[in-house]
Amino acid sequence: MVGRLEGKNAIVTGAGGGVGLETVILMLQEGASVLMTDVSASALENALSKAKEVVPQHPGRVETQVVDVSKEADVEAAVDRIDSWGGVDVMFNNAGIMHPKDGDSEECPDSIWDLTMNINVKGVWYGSKHAVRSLRKHGKKSGSIINTASIVALVGAATPQVAYTASKGAVLALTRELAIVHAREGYRFNSLCPAPLNTPMLQSFLGDDKAKRLRREIHFPTGRFGEAIEQAHAVIFLASDESSFVNATDFVVDGGLTKAY
Ligand code: NAD
Repeated sequence: MVGRLEGKNAIVTGAGGGVGLETVILMLQEGASVLMTDVSASALENALSKAKEVVPQHPGRVETQVVDVSKEADVEAAVDRIDSWGGVDVMFNNAGIMHPKDGDSEECPDSIWDLTMNINVKGVWYGSKHAVRSLRKHGKKSGSIINTASIVALVGAATPQVAYTASKGAVLALTRELAIVHAREGYRFNSLCPAPLNTPMLQSFLGDDKAKRLRREIHFPTGRFGEAIEQAHAVIFLASDESSFVNATDFVVDGGLTKAY
């Protein structure tokens, strides 16, 4: 059986864990070649071992590169590397942070605001811009760029994180703009909007604070947080040609959370 991403080259940022790693695993199973990137070399090494353990046989290649998405030269170098494979087909701009000291309006210092914007917004911009450069360079007639936002770009969070929320709102607007600008070239841009997920990010945010956990969990019609793999399946759909007419969406994968009252 031919995989849904057979012959496609993909870059995944923040591939060292959480949603990024689950997506890499599915991408390999679907036949893609994947360049896994992350700011943490050790996380990347562990993630590569896990991916190879889960998918020992796959038709594409899988390699790693240390990339801090807030540094344009790093992102550019990753895209240059995949250019030598035949150019980017899929760019998953997944890396993001939620700083533990991000807070309400009185609590969020400029340093955290700037760090969050540099990674969550500029990182997505660099990934998008260099993906387009590669797509054009190789004369590709289609390409899929998936940028991770969050449901906090759509609804307010009960446990506030102002910089994070603002950064994810910017991802929605940027992605929509790029989608419209590049639509006639065949390059699709969609935002992924996950609800809170059981990943290291959420675990470190909630810690052992049961009240904080409950305050978030109680809003879920499903009665549970999401899992990284549930986002990864949506990314595979958006990356594949099955979603060829899906463009400029805020693709919400939230178990119904944003529609609940
Ligand atoms: P995670 O913290 O589990 O994994 C994120 C990965 O990104 C880590 O491996 C980390 O090393 C890497 N990273 C951090 N800064 C980086 C940088 N500057 N350059 C490159 N890599 C960097 O997070 P996750 O839960 O898998 O989240 C993935 C994406 O989903 C993020 O954009 C996040 O904001 C978003 N999201 C997460 C949740 C959630 O509840 N976990 C909810 C909505 C949206």
